[in-house]
Amino acid sequence: MKKNQKLLFILLTTFFLLLSLFLIERDLYRYDKVTYFEFKTLLREGKVQDVVIKKKEIYGKFLESAADTLSQIRKTPVKVGTYFKTVYPDDPELFKLLEEKGINYEVKPDSNLWVTVLSWVLPFVLLFLFWIFLLRRFAGPDGGIMSIGKSKAKVYVEKEIKVTFQDVAGVDEAVEELKEIIEYLKNPQKFVRLGAKIPKGVLLVGPPGTGKTLLAKAVAGEADVPFISISGSSFVEMFVGVGAARVRDLFAQAEALAPCIIFIDEIDAVGRVRGISPTGGAEEREHTLTQLLTEMDGFDPKKGVIIIAATNRPEILDPALLRPGRFDRVVVVDRPDLKGREAILRLHCREIKLAPDVDLKVIAARTPGMVGAELANIVNEAALLAARKGKDAVGMEDFEEAIDRVVAGLARKSRYLSPEEKRRIAYHEAGHAICAAVFTPKEKVHRVSIIPRGVAALGYTLQLPEEEKYLLTKEELLAKVCVLFGGRVAEELVFGEVSTGAQNDLEKATEIARAMVLDYGMSEVLGPQTFRKREHLFLDVPFKERELVSEETARLIDEEISKILKSCYDKTKELLQAEREKLDRMAELLLQKEVLEGEELEKILYTHNS
Ligand code: ADP
Ligand code: MG
Ligand code: ZN
Repeated sequence: MKKNQKLLFILLTTFFLLLSLFLIERDLYRYDKVTYFEFKTLLREGKVQDVVIKKKEIYGKFLESAADTLSQIRKTPVKVGTYFKTVYPDDPELFKLLEEKGINYEVKPDSNLWVTVLSWVLPFVLLFLFWIFLLRRFAGPDGGIMSIGKSKAKVYVEKEIKVTFQDVAGVDEAVEELKEIIEYLKNPQKFVRLGAKIPKGVLLVGPPGTGKTLLAKAVAGEADVPFISISGSSFVEMFVGVGAARVRDLFAQAEALAPCIIFIDEIDAVGRVRGISPTGGAEEREHTLTQLLTEMDGFDPKKGVIIIAATNRPEILDPALLRPGRFDRVVVVDRPDLKGREAILRLHCREIKLAPDVDLKVIAARTPGMVGAELANIVNEAALLAARKGKDAVGMEDFEEAIDRVVAGLARKSRYLSPEEKRRIAYHEAGHAICAAVFTPKEKVHRVSIIPRGVAALGYTLQLPEEEKYLLTKEELLAKVCVLFGGRVAEELVFGEVSTGAQNDLEKATEIARAMVLDYGMSEVLGPQTFRKREHLFLDVPFKERELVSEETARLIDEEISKILKSCYDKTKELLQAEREKLDRMAELLLQKEVLEGEELEKILYTHNS
């Protein structure tokens, strides 16, 4: 802890101590004030007790029903506490009355200084002792709050990693991309000498259990470098400044160990978009994030430290994290396809004795959408079941049972798809893909997937642009809308009705059409003018509608948007009707393979021989 932080801490604590002392004092010695008249009435009615008479004041205890009398006198409902006080006007009759009523009274000289002082100091001492006690409690073996900022407790440093790419299966593309990193780590000088820029950060994006942590470790294992790991959530602590200090420590440690890998799991915990926070306490996280960015920027890549981060929620990350020189490489670790699942199962069965009837291909086919962690779990469950039954080898029925168990466990968490739904999704995605091939030929369809619970909700069609684009023409925007409609139109053509699955597509299509009219002045009727403006220039916050639009204009805007959407919809329908045969073929193929990419996809989408 830094000097001034410590001072602040002590000052704050003292302040709170005094405050609580003040509050306690007020509470312990609260007297209800009554007038002398009220006091005497109460006395006459025998509703007070234990009266203490000082030079100028009288103290005493209320008896029950004193409140009633007071209410009567004051003519409003009165609530009373335990004690009262009133002034003492030197009334000689008082003592007669007291004796008459037989009330125990005491005459005291001016209050004892000692008692007063003690009653002030004692609570203070008690609280102080309590504070010391708390400090002791917090100060665990690793120093507790007395050593804030020393991140030793949460950083795991593993010098020798045994995991290699041999232990990873089914995510070949990710492995391919990461191999390059190993080269850098093994021999940074080779790249530095030629002036090549070494990447600093790699972001692994994918659903939980797909092997992100495993991959990061495998990179360290393959390159034979230390692996420093920390979880994003452990950066964010209750004390301000701790997270930033942790980041600093982390990089200092890494520098000492270089070449090495820093692995930040769940980076979304720190890396959320700054500036928008529904709850408080965002400031600390922002400090941490800023510190992380600063450290990454200031880090000399020649040292051979590579930062790998993992997240399953890339959409909430601050774009600043993805800028060049930071996590500029994004590696998608998707759910494995059929072949991938088989490979993962095979890998985890390495040390398992399998009965001859076990067909891993069949098991892979029965587990669509499952990730590596779940598949590993199935293998383990099957082995446990077989062992419990006292078998010599794990048989197919053990696997079946294990799948049922794991699926039952998962079914609660996520939806499983019926064959009918699957067919619908296949047609939906095929529709997108065929439209994409025709309307946006420059953005090649890279991958079409109907693996449930994939990166996107149910299925997705991934397009990659051939060149980076910064501007879009009106034609291109319209083409995008058509591609978005492709899914819904395909469903309509094949099943005669649409489903809720296209909601997101519609939302996006509508937003494009709205933007064309409202922001880009692309409507001929309304002419070149905008109707919205951004609230904030840099943050990606939604547009705000400009007020002061006449009713007539508002109607025109709506009309124009509808017109754009309608014409795109018709165009899409026309195309898919004409390509119905291709649509069927592609949907069929998708149902068989779950994922289409590469040559196969090329053949069906981009050749015109049918
Ligand atoms: P993530 O970090 O993406 O949530 P993990 O790397 O922690 O997933 O995976 C948990 C476990 O699941 C791994 O230790 C491994 O046993 C198994 N596993 C996950 N993905 C794979 C894979 N692609 N190949 C082999 N095993 C995997
Ligand atoms: Mg993980
Ligand atoms: Zn869609």
